[in-house]
Amino acid sequence: MDGDMAISHLIVMVVEDHGFQRRLALRLLAELGVQQRLEAADGAAALALLSRQALMPDVLLVDLDLPDMAGIEFIRRVAEGKLARAVVLACALDREPLQSVQNLARSHGLRVLGCIGKPMTVGKLQAVLEDYAALIDEADGDPPIEISPAMLRSALDDEEISAWFQPQATLANGQVVAVEVLARWQRPDGVTLRPQQFIPLLESAALIDRMTEQMLVQACHWKRQWALSGLHLKVSLNLSMHNLGQFDAADRYQRIVREHRIEPREVVLELTEASLMGDSANALNVLARLRLKGFGLSIDDFGTGYSSLAQLAQNPFTELKIDRSFVSGAAQQPRRRAVIEASLELARKLNLGVVAEGVEQVDDWQMLAELGCNYAQGYLIARPVPGDQVAEMVARWRRPEC
Ligand code: C2E
Ligand code: CA
Ligand code: CA
Repeated sequence: MDGDMAISHLIVMVVEDHGFQRRLALRLLAELGVQQRLEAADGAAALALLSRQALMPDVLLVDLDLPDMAGIEFIRRVAEGKLARAVVLACALDREPLQSVQNLARSHGLRVLGCIGKPMTVGKLQAVLEDYAALIDEADGDPPIEISPAMLRSALDDEEISAWFQPQATLANGQVVAVEVLARWQRPDGVTLRPQQFIPLLESAALIDRMTEQMLVQACHWKRQWALSGLHLKVSLNLSMHNLGQFDAADRYQRIVREHRIEPREVVLELTEASLMGDSANALNVLARLRLKGFGLSIDDFGTGYSSLAQLAQNPFTELKIDRSFVSGAAQQPRRRAVIEASLELARKLNLGVVAEGVEQVDDWQMLAELGCNYAQGYLIARPVPGDQVAEMVARWRRPEC
């Protein structure tokens, strides 16, 4: 990865129908040193241009009031086609982006960086692009590494992808009772890749079943190790929708946990709310079988998809994980708090446990505890660590004074 992601290296496209506004934005980008600037006067032209780009643009600066194709429809196409990494909206006023636009984008992994009110200024543009550059540096960096199916296969053969673990603590008493399994690819060249950088590739190379099984085997192995020292933790494993494609999936997972003398009820399987939207009959069938065998089933990133009540009630889930975009900072933001309260209410009615993810601050922990949420996961408690550091991490954690 190439360390500092400076603004000047970003690829930015301006999508704006007013000639004057468009030229202004391009000039400001040039002033900020952005070398690669693209422009389009409407959504259709932008999509055509995007489909021809060899390198995915980092940021699209989109006028929300585009004619012809409404701005939101354009963003939907960009998100669904994974045509850019992030968008900045240009709006009449400075304000928080519409939640509907954020949800739409986020459920497809597109980042919404914010709204810039017109007139656009160098300062506003710089602030939002610098935030993005910082985000890229600290998060995944999505380095443009070429990863071939052969590389993925050898990574699996050599077990280069390992399970890391992040704790979940009971809000009522602070006790760590579970860990989520998070995949890390530690390549021989010393670079560690985040799941977003390789899981989509494993899915399209039809290798995701192998990885998921390796994660489950490693998690079971470590779970046994921790138990030997008296530390009993449930494990939560992330599943991809692709893992539910084959009828025998439930039997395979059951066999793996049994081989490690672990009960399925000690294992929770997480599926993102967004992935559940395209629910095929087959996937639902496998989920039902997993549930019958005793596995817990969790709806991940809850609040970012569009589950209807009917859908929730009919699926065999046991747990909700409230997405971190609602959790982080909730104590200071009434709207986020309202979403959490509504989710807790829903979970109570459907008899589901609730995990709040992305708990980073003490006041968020306290608020969640007061609201009666069951479990918290997030950097406040600990970041993900390798299996051999879990016991130490659990011992180090002290819950905040309430
Ligand atoms: P996720 O299931 O929502 O996992 C939580 C992600 O949030 C993890 O990122 C974790 O490191 C991060 N996180 C935890 N606490 C905090 C916090 O307090 N603040 C912030 N800002 N972030 C926090 P990670 O490990 O990069 O995983 C990203 C996603 O990749 C996961 O999101 C999950 O959807 C997917 N993933 C990870 N491992 C696997 C896997 O084995 N199989 C599949 N299919 N997907 C996986
Ligand atoms: Ca998860
Ligand atoms: Ca999540």
